[in-house]
Amino acid sequence: MKTRPFISNIELTNDGKLSLFFIGTGNAFTKTSFQTNLLLVKGKEHLLIDCGTLCSYAFENLYNGKITDIRNLLLTHPHADHIGGVEEMALAGKYITKQKINLIINDEFKKLLWNQSLRGGIQYSEEGKMTFEDYFNQLKPKQILKKPFEMYEIDAFGMNLKLFRTRHVCTKRDSLKNSQISYGLIIDDKVLFTADTQYNPTQLKFLLDKYKNIEVIFHDCDIKGFSRGVHAAYDELNLLPAEIRAKTYLCHYSEAVNTIDALVDGFAGLAKHWVYYDFD
Ligand SMILES: [Zn+2]
Repeated sequence: MKTRPFISNIELTNDGKLSLFFIGTGNAFTKTSFQTNLLLVKGKEHLLIDCGTLCSYAFENLYNGKITDIRNLLLTHPHADHIGGVEEMALAGKYITKQKINLIINDEFKKLLWNQSLRGGIQYSEEGKMTFEDYFNQLKPKQILKKPFEMYEIDAFGMNLKLFRTRHVCTKRDSLKNSQISYGLIIDDKVLFTADTQYNPTQLKFLLDKYKNIEVIFHDCDIKGFSRGVHAAYDELNLLPAEIRAKTYLCHYSEAVNTIDALVDGFAGLAKHWVYYDFD
């Protein structure tokens, strides 16, 4: 993996190699590093992973892009820093581009997303009642594993994507059925992006054992540990074996990130926006 600085306009195509670009690397509250939403680019294809409330603002004001150029979307879970900009994308598809958004989503999350998040804002229209299908083309990943961790897989936009169910907002005793629906992602068997998860070393070890070509991990991190049980805390991530820390970049962090030195603690570093992460 190599890094390359952002120059002037965000790229939605490249020479064919997988490239990651963080629209932001912050948590739900930070105002400086924006929200952890991630753009994948490979050849002529692109895929936006999550679209939070600040995503379209960052796209236009930081990167000279247009959110209406984004055709393909995958959502990890329904918190506003991850889906808060989806209503705008859906309406822009109806009124501006006249194109539906291609959305990678399984049936369980699709139902929740529409009924509990999006429907209140976009079900009514001057043409009558709208449905999910009026705004989105669903691309359904196939379930490949039930236990010990639910997993889904899809080949789309020139990429292989595996989604794994994470424990994000729930007590230790809660079953996943009673928790926030939430997925992390493995991209082309090379990159593991946790999205939002509690500290879960068993799951991390399982995935790294199963997919041995994973080069880099982007892991959410709560620096002060205020939201233990929601995100992985920095002191918990410090307990990971050195070889795992060495390939782990931290993301989804607060302004308190200035109080730690991830490199000194053996991590690969902090994920940054304004940077392309290129993979061979
Ligand atoms: Zn979340």
